[in-house]
Amino acid sequence: MVCYCDDCQAYAAYLGDEDKWLDEWGGTDIFQVTPASITFLKGSDKLRCVRVKPGGIFRFYSSCCRTPLANTVSRKMPFAGIPSRIIHGNDKEAALGPVRCYVMGTYAKGQPPTHPHPKFSLKSLVVVLGFMLKNKLKGANLPTPFFRDDGKAVVAPDPTLNPDNSARQ
Ligand SMILES: [Zn+2]
Repeated sequence: MVCYCDDCQAYAAYLGDEDKWLDEWGGTDIFQVTPASITFLKGSDKLRCVRVKPGGIFRFYSSCCRTPLANTVSRKMPFAGIPSRIIHGNDKEAALGPVRCYVMGTYAKGQPPTHPHPKFSLKSLVVVLGFMLKNKLKGANLPTPFFRDDGKAVVAPDPTLNPDNSARQ
């Protein structure tokens, strides 16, 4: 799914290299997996996270190169959105499959040729909720490398951003 929302855009700005993470219309291409399918082999001491808005989603990144790693909701939700730009490998396009939804076009810069839905289309909700339900039944929210048993993030979130303060506007 490609998300053009202001939250994703503010996050890219926070990381400090927007062009690297956003397409030219401010979109982030995100591939959804389950937390249980993610393992850090090394460097987990470099894990950081931030919530762009109070109560917003947890966005995990690496402190060394400020690379966005995964967006997660909570320990209970079987969802981790990985920016497809950090996924590498042979036949990546075939492995990931086509983009299924373009969402939150209200915040897009200019007119993306993909004609995103202004918010979430019914199709995108069905896709996301279907993924969540299937994997909740499987219990694939656990184990998670992102949350402790008490539900807190494994690293304390950075102080909350205020996108309205951004000098980018
Ligand atoms: Zn977004």
